[in-house]
Amino acid sequence: MKFDLAVLPGDGVGPEIIDEAIKVLLATGQKFKQTFNLRYGLVGGVAIDQAGNPLPPKTLKLCQTSDAVLLGAVGGPKWDDPRARTRPEDGLLTLRKKLGLFANLRPVKVFPALVDASSLKPKLIEGVDFIFIRELTGGIYFGRPKREWQTPQGRRAVDSMTYTEAEIERILRVGFELARTRRHKLVSVDKANVLQTSRLWRQIATEIAPQYPDVELEHILVDACAMWLMLNPARFDVIVTENMFGDILTDESSILGGSMGMLASASLAGIPREETRTLGMYEPIHGSAPQIAGLNIANPIATILSAAMMLRYSLGLTKEARVIERAVEKVLDEGYRTSDIMGEGKTKVGTKEMGNLIAGKVGG
Ligand code: NAD
Repeated sequence: MKFDLAVLPGDGVGPEIIDEAIKVLLATGQKFKQTFNLRYGLVGGVAIDQAGNPLPPKTLKLCQTSDAVLLGAVGGPKWDDPRARTRPEDGLLTLRKKLGLFANLRPVKVFPALVDASSLKPKLIEGVDFIFIRELTGGIYFGRPKREWQTPQGRRAVDSMTYTEAEIERILRVGFELARTRRHKLVSVDKANVLQTSRLWRQIATEIAPQYPDVELEHILVDACAMWLMLNPARFDVIVTENMFGDILTDESSILGGSMGMLASASLAGIPREETRTLGMYEPIHGSAPQIAGLNIANPIATILSAAMMLRYSLGLTKEARVIERAVEKVLDEGYRTSDIMGEGKTKVGTKEMGNLIAGKVGG
């Protein structure tokens, strides 16, 4: 089959890590006789420099007419002037909004070979393998009214947490569907003891649960969830939650997976199902790491794993995705490490070498 992919390398380490992910994708395509038609576009700082806009209309069109989007990272000191009219990150936010990417997925998996690289005790993180789903386009970050004003007693400010039934239901369904493809356990996180939006969230989760009899649904309050993530993270399979809770808990969870250079993400515009294609944008969770750009030391694994997620969730190529994930695991098992995950007695390799090793395992 042939797939159109929008490839947006962006800034800093973006182009280097994207090169390695493409190398691995092409090796996968060759092995499984799939054709990936790569369509490169500008986004972020480089797009400001070359087109005066962090998301040029041409890039948006490219993404809208592709099967999926693979992105590196955007931003850097060159575009940090607070007086600037536009910033690289605006390109990313607009892209998410225009593509209707309402579900943000972040897998948190501790590779056995990296258990000792974590700042947490090995016995705590052994076997951790869960996926976080954060609602991305609603809740308190977007609710109205949102403003600050002067009163006789001093300044006041308000943010509004609002959710519609449709918004809650579609993200919960992503959770149920994903749980079906994994270990059939879904944790729905809310603050139903205090918040009205959370009470509605919990009610809807409970209402639709009977449609997924093979999935075990558990409700956990957000504060308790923050504790469980540090106390027993291996208990989780799929976690679904609203925008702000997800923002905080996904950052907390990211430390379980070790380096920023290891963590992939997907932002989806629909429920991923094998029989349908879901538009999605795939990117590492880290930024453009400008201090290490161009030095061939950035870890490309987060981007390579993001490409694997793209195969699974947007292109329906589950077998191919698994082969990439296994290739990463094998290379780590053999002791190869970029400097961010380097450990005693391991073999240090650069960005390109890590990409070559993983592509070699895919093809081999
Ligand atoms: P960062 O994620 O770029 O870097 C944080 C730390 O992690 C740094 O020490 C960096 O060297 C290291 N790191 C990141 N990716 C790595 C990799 N692949 N391999 C090895 N080490 C890696 O965050 P920051 O320094 O706060 O931000 C730098 C720029 O990136 C800023 O302009 C910021 O706005 C932007 N940013 C972009 C995104 C995005 O594109 N999605 C996300 C976050 C930050």
